[in-house]
Amino acid sequence: MKEQHDMPAKGKIYLVPVPIGNLGDITLRALEVLKNVPLIAAEDTRNAGFLLSRYDIPPPKLISFHKFNERSREDNLFSHLESGQDLAVISDAGTPGISDPAMELVHKAVAKGIDVVSLPGASALLPALTASGLNKGPFLFLGFLPRQGKERDQAIKRIKESFCPVVIYESPLRLPKLLKGLYEKIGSRQICIARELTKMYEELIYGDLQELSEEGKVTLKGEFVLVIDSAPPQDGVDMEKAQNTCKMLVAEGLSQRTVLKVLQDVYGLKRNDAYELLLISQNKIGEKP
Ligand code: SAM
Repeated sequence: MKEQHDMPAKGKIYLVPVPIGNLGDITLRALEVLKNVPLIAAEDTRNAGFLLSRYDIPPPKLISFHKFNERSREDNLFSHLESGQDLAVISDAGTPGISDPAMELVHKAVAKGIDVVSLPGASALLPALTASGLNKGPFLFLGFLPRQGKERDQAIKRIKESFCPVVIYESPLRLPKLLKGLYEKIGSRQICIARELTKMYEELIYGDLQELSEEGKVTLKGEFVLVIDSAPPQDGVDMEKAQNTCKMLVAEGLSQRTVLKVLQDVYGLKRNDAYELLLISQNKIGEKP
């Protein structure tokens, strides 16, 4: 059997954020990594070539890696990494690993013991959240909602019941249906539609679901992030106190069962809400019950 120290060191995956519009939004470190890696996996190799030439980076070897070939490409990418060579991954825009094929690649890489180096940088998520005026601390990021069926209904229920703001990605074609569906199912609520972030026609549209779901209220061109305000507090429930108590009980190491019971019995929270509060206190929001 081969000794562990005879094995070649595996290459690293570098997740390199690229601008979501404004070409100034790339970091010095991102450029350095893109210059030095022998291979870049890009969602669109033409866009990537254009991007690299804008920064005067002689294009290294580019390989396409997108939602239609991600499964078949993984083997090539992993054999490249297993042979000891580094790989950079870039998406069309923003941070790879947020609502794009890099998510699954990283999942598998970690399981295979491959080092992942994630560079901080541009993403559509945080500028939308921070400019929305709806951020109060914890938030729920759902990415793209499932297109239809039970899964979509469940996602909308989560939005309806969420006591922190929810951030969603959506394409311009599907945005009207999303706004209408949300208004029908959760009623009116404050929202912020962040359109064309960092680009020439950047627009932050603030209003409520009733108004903004009306036809013609939003220019349906470009790219969108939707931020939806948290659910109004349940009658008679002091959410702030419940949240503080929950954090304290978690910090004291009480069992999950006990914390849930206190939140339900003492603060009158519904089980789902108690569970969500618990996840937030444990920094596990996004995990499924
Ligand atoms: N990985 C990317 C990130 O870090 O944000 C997201 C990739 S996801 C496939 C693409 C979605 O991001 C778009 O459908 C849109 O919802 C959002 N998006 C990307 N660029 C944007 C921009 N300039 N303004 C608003 N939303 C944008």
